[in-house]
Amino acid sequence: MSNCLIIQSEGDKLTRGEIDRGQLAPDEIEVDIHFCGVCHSDIHQGKNDWGRAFFPLVPGHEVTGIVKSIGSEVTKFKLGDRVGVGVFKDSCGQCEMCAQGKENYCLNGRTQTYNAPLPNGERTKGGYARTIHARESFSHHIPENLPLDAAAPLLCAGITTYAPLKKWGVGPGKKVAVVGIGGLGHMAVKFAAALGAEVSVIGRDDSKKQDALDFGATEFLVTDEQFEQKLNHFDLVLNSASANLGVDKFLKILKPEGVLVMLGLPTERPDFDPFNVVYAGRIIAGSNVAPMALTEEMLEFASEKNILSEIEICSADEINQAWERVEKSDVRYRFVLDAKTI
Ligand SMILES: [Zn+2]
Ligand SMILES: [Zn+2]
Repeated sequence: MSNCLIIQSEGDKLTRGEIDRGQLAPDEIEVDIHFCGVCHSDIHQGKNDWGRAFFPLVPGHEVTGIVKSIGSEVTKFKLGDRVGVGVFKDSCGQCEMCAQGKENYCLNGRTQTYNAPLPNGERTKGGYARTIHARESFSHHIPENLPLDAAAPLLCAGITTYAPLKKWGVGPGKKVAVVGIGGLGHMAVKFAAALGAEVSVIGRDDSKKQDALDFGATEFLVTDEQFEQKLNHFDLVLNSASANLGVDKFLKILKPEGVLVMLGLPTERPDFDPFNVVYAGRIIAGSNVAPMALTEEMLEFASEKNILSEIEICSADEINQAWERVEKSDVRYRFVLDAKTI
């Protein structure tokens, strides 16, 4: 059994509870969870904003901790190792995407760390808990120089932003705009700058301007006049906002053949003018987390460049208040739950 924070029924708050993790499978490790990042998607699921949540629900997919026990077939981890578990628990391992090492796009229903169906009819339970069982092939060593608390958000916010930057060739000579500077956006700024790109941030107001510059951005855009000066300017626009801020204004600031990457999942459906795509050969792309191999690469890159999330630690008693603050964008920049307080 594991102590946890659980939403018993739709509309409830998170409260203390207990879950049965069952038997450890031969290829699984048991993680003594030290920290779990608070992702905005935890809140969307907790409130059933997307209509896809099942209750009781234990959220959390930015887990770091220490290996507490190992299954009989585990070779990659030993007791006491520092470990991270992210968004996925499993994938089919058979389909075309899995065969290409793209487990995050498994065609047969990748298993997410929480809220995903299990063969026994139950749903996976996430990292707002004291322990979790994870397949070793879906778990990651956390480099020694990265503290477990500020490294936790790398497992979702970090890799979610690193993956599209790599896919679309961000590096020296490229101009990148990051829309929104929250949990995802601040990681995008750090990674894009570390990859050598020139980074601009597009914010709602300039209250986070100095932080953005400290994270590696060279400018901070807020007003329509500033937008007008950036038409056909960027190679890549990374939209990290979870609200629908429109599409056309971000297309227009892209160079011809530039790419707008959507990372957020607004509940309101966006639309766009096809002229802004067709006439300049621009691309609207999506991205969802990343393959395991790229996650390993991201952790090595973060270790080498000392890239971490900016965090505020919260205890189990403070979690509901923390969720309310995330919804108001009142966090710099990611809450991390201290799992020992559960
Ligand atoms: Zn997440
Ligand atoms: Zn698959």
